[in-house]
Amino acid sequence: MATLLRQARLDMTAPWACNAAAARVSLTRAIVQIAGSFSVISAPRFELATKHSAALGGANFSYIETLWTEAQQNAACNAIHDGSSRLCRWLLQCADRIGSEHLLVTQEFLAEMLGVRRTTVTLLAQELQKRGILRYSRGRITILDRAALEACACECYNVVRNISLGAVPGVSRQSQII
Ligand SMILES: [Zn+2]
Repeated sequence: MATLLRQARLDMTAPWACNAAAARVSLTRAIVQIAGSFSVISAPRFELATKHSAALGGANFSYIETLWTEAQQNAACNAIHDGSSRLCRWLLQCADRIGSEHLLVTQEFLAEMLGVRRTTVTLLAQELQKRGILRYSRGRITILDRAALEACACECYNVVRNISLGAVPGVSRQSQII
């Protein structure tokens, strides 16, 4: 599982489809977590564009590397880090990607993302709220103390953030989004 940047591409099957006639079947399920607008381009047109632009091709390659790194980091994170630190990591990544400290996510959704029970998310969010780190109400989360939230997150947050900062040229953390 990985979250995508604002400038991200979603379908990752094209780079490995060497034969243009090969069937292109996505093996993944994509979920839009935050509402917004987006553009669509066919895989053949996108591939053509990357072949004609070294900058776009390079940015695309860097992005794919970053996405795979994040997926691997998240797999390890889910296996070894506790729910609280993973919740903090996920909230920070989500905030970075939408460029806002206000998140519209339900506890059910967070539970699914983290692979824990909804009641666990409730307890974890209550604890963070009690400490003044965030405010949670009816599917709205506001990060009140980013530094404290970062201190509570596992190291995976910084690992993925540092890699993603170098992945998309000219994109700062504040301008990234899912
Ligand atoms: Zn982790």
